[in-house]
Amino acid sequence: MTTRTPLMAGNWKMNLDWKQALALVEELGEQLKSVDTTKVETVVLPPFVDLRTVQVAVDAGKLPIAYGAQDISEHESGAYTGEVSGAMLKALGATYVAVGHSERRQYHGEDEKVTNAKVKAAFASGLVPILCVGEPLEERQAGKHVEYTLAQLEGGIEGLTAEQAKTIVIAYEPVWAIGTGEVATPDDAQEVCAAIRDALRALHGDEVADAVRVLYGGSVKSSNVAELMERADVDGALVGGASLKAEEFAKIAGFQ
Ligand code: PEP
Repeated sequence: MTTRTPLMAGNWKMNLDWKQALALVEELGEQLKSVDTTKVETVVLPPFVDLRTVQVAVDAGKLPIAYGAQDISEHESGAYTGEVSGAMLKALGATYVAVGHSERRQYHGEDEKVTNAKVKAAFASGLVPILCVGEPLEERQAGKHVEYTLAQLEGGIEGLTAEQAKTIVIAYEPVWAIGTGEVATPDDAQEVCAAIRDALRALHGDEVADAVRVLYGGSVKSSNVAELMERADVDGALVGGASLKAEEFAKIAGFQ
């Protein structure tokens, strides 16, 4: 069981128009009434176009829900058609941003260099990056999952100050478990989450390693979250599909 405040983040991916987003966030606010929200942080990551709607609903209802984006531009502003800057997200009250999700790496060619630039752009705007790392199936089958994941981690956090490293969130998401229904075992999740923390300890020392929240992501549901959260180095979950249902996501947030 983690000694840090658990974080449950819902990645809505490319789902829900603004009306559906409004309905989901309001319903989630209702469902979270049965959860002790002083003991867990709940975050949603809607599509960009839904963020304003989520902001208004969260503010109006004083809902215990933080929100953020699924991506961020590495650039500050200017001629980058289609991009959204950290400052724009911050102005919407966003607190978190996912960086380096495997779908960004796979479909948009985002490598370590881009991911690292986006992590830095998030910090420059006062946002907390949720850096996603994790191996594809072939790497796991070859027994290289830890090595592969740590290379992504080290590339993603290169050049951060200890103060920045202390507040980053890392999400370990084995690619073979994302959207497949195939969840990693608690032992698998613990092995890599602990390796991530050890790498942070080697790079930035005890204070950073003991503060950083390391999430597990990949087919998390209310039926498997408790056993994952029993592990010492699993500090929460990044949840895709199951975050689209308010009751289910609130149950995940209330694992304790
Ligand atoms: C994700 O999108 O980051 C994810 C973990 O998805 P799912 O929970 O659907 O596997």
